[in-house]
Amino acid sequence: MRPDVDVLVAGGGPVGLAVAIEARLAGLRAMVVEPRATPIDKACGEGLMPGAVAALARLDVHPTGHPLTGIRYVRGDRRADHLFTSSSGLGVRRTALHLALALRAEELGVEVVPGKVETIEQDAGSVTAAGIRASWLMACDGLHSTVRRQVGLDRPAARAGGRRYGIRRHYRIAPWSDLVEVHWGRHVEAYVTPVGPDTVGVAMLGPQHHDFDRSLDGFPDLRRHLGSTPTLGPPRGAGPLLQRTRARTAGRVRLVGDASGYVDALTGEGVRVGLAQAAAAVRTLGPDVETSSAAYEKAWTAATRDYRMITSGLLAAAGSPLRRSIVPLASAVPTVYGGIVERLAR
Ligand SMILES: Cc1cc2nc3c(=O)[nH]c(=O)nc-3n(C[C@H](O)[C@H](O)[C@H](O)COP(=O)(O)OP(=O)(O)OC[C@H]3O[C@@H](n4cnc5c(N)ncnc54)[C@H](O)[C@@H]3O)c2cc1C
Repeated sequence: MRPDVDVLVAGGGPVGLAVAIEARLAGLRAMVVEPRATPIDKACGEGLMPGAVAALARLDVHPTGHPLTGIRYVRGDRRADHLFTSSSGLGVRRTALHLALALRAEELGVEVVPGKVETIEQDAGSVTAAGIRASWLMACDGLHSTVRRQVGLDRPAARAGGRRYGIRRHYRIAPWSDLVEVHWGRHVEAYVTPVGPDTVGVAMLGPQHHDFDRSLDGFPDLRRHLGSTPTLGPPRGAGPLLQRTRARTAGRVRLVGDASGYVDALTGEGVRVGLAQAAAAVRTLGPDVETSSAAYEKAWTAATRDYRMITSGLLAAAGSPLRRSIVPLASAVPTVYGGIVERLAR
């Protein structure tokens, strides 16, 4: 019996929609199962690296936002700026990013079905989830992926003490900079992204139960900029951020995006890396499950290598006595700092 679709996508976040778009561009039938209505909002720093903007443009997805010219690290009165050498990034509200992807997916004939994937059945020729039979199931269901757990690809979580979480808020204020600012506090980082002519997002990253306002008090420079500016909408949180996987494939199921493992939001890389995974997940589909799964594992490893290495290294430094020296070092050795940012920006 012929499957209902070639590619079934669990989760219609940015990566799930990108997978569906890639599949349609490759001439495959694609369907997305997503419980939430468009446009979907989410806790996110909302800074798209230049590589993410380019990857979206390749899919003919052009969200509007605030051009980002580089990354600034701030600690007290120390600054380290790196301006992107190739093209700009983009600060973009999650809802705007989601809508742009959803419209493109719709234009290409992707059907989005309301619902959740909860159980998965596989046989030699197909995989069935949410009542839909497909040749392949792409698990794009985020940090706490149900599919990942169902197919046994979860790896034990980090020690509770080391877990990090993010909380994001928006402020109605004109951006004071075109750079993403990462303010380094004692235990928390504030990731500040201009996302529109009168909107700035602040994502606070730190240990469990860190308090947004109390953390903000630890950043006098940022407090001064924000003053008594009103916040927009409710805060949103996410975590624990670190999610590990044993592998990215289980038969006809592939993990893509945050579902495939996540290190941290500190380097603002999730969407860029997720889009690269989406392209790889579709590009490596083939008639033989084993061969094409091996090809995806290899492509996934290559697409995520810099992100995994650099973000893990920075996190290790951030959790050590070196933390105080990160911004002074970045400003003292700009070529090294710039080289690292450029690797992540690609
Ligand atoms: C605080 C914070 C700051 C960040 N800052 C940045 C940044 O500045 N730049 C950047 O590029 N990245 C950033 N990221 C990372 C980025 O948000 C993620 O990498 C990105 O959202 C991953 O997209 P995704 O589609 O894989 O997952 P998600 O966006 O989480 O989407 C998953 C989707 O799956 C759906 N779903 C869940 N369960 C099921 C199910 N069982 N069945 C069907 N659907 C399901 C959900 O409703 C959701 O829509 C940040 C993350 C955090 C937490």
